[in-house]
Amino acid sequence: MASAFTHAFSAFALGSVLQTGKLRKGLILTGMLSAAMPDLDVIAFWLDIPYEHPLGHRGLTHSILFAAIWALGIGYLFWRNVDNRDRIRWRIWFYLFLCTASHGVLDAMTTGGRGVGFFIPLDNDRYFLPWRFIQVSPIRASAFFSEYGLKVLTNEFVTVWLPCMIVMIIVWMFRQWRKA
Ligand SMILES: [Zn+2]
Repeated sequence: MASAFTHAFSAFALGSVLQTGKLRKGLILTGMLSAAMPDLDVIAFWLDIPYEHPLGHRGLTHSILFAAIWALGIGYLFWRNVDNRDRIRWRIWFYLFLCTASHGVLDAMTTGGRGVGFFIPLDNDRYFLPWRFIQVSPIRASAFFSEYGLKVLTNEFVTVWLPCMIVMIIVWMFRQWRKA
């Protein structure tokens, strides 16, 4: 895992670049929570479900199928009555899908763990992306208050937050320029 803060921040950045906040109130916040949520699967460790099991850590909740279903469910729960003019319901779904799926993508760029089960339940193999530069984050929250925790947060700032902020600034500048 990358830390929950970093997953949530990526969803915030996505929302800002895609101007999702204009679609519906609370959508970006929901996207941020959706991006952090897949790591609730760490309860697998307490339930003695092995890492490699489809329900193990970085398994089903990190898959593309799960992201699609989660986005559908949350979109239906909160925004089912939205007028679908301009395909707004699909745009809401797409944003929530991207946020949830972004979790697995970031995890697949971390330096530790055993890869992400993107294709569960079709294929139980775990995958990494060819670029792995995000320091793997500790599972216990208390571990953040240590030297290693600080190292992880610093690394995530450089590898995720900074690039996201640069993209957000460029997009913002581009929009200002177009308005002018
Ligand atoms: Zn994760």
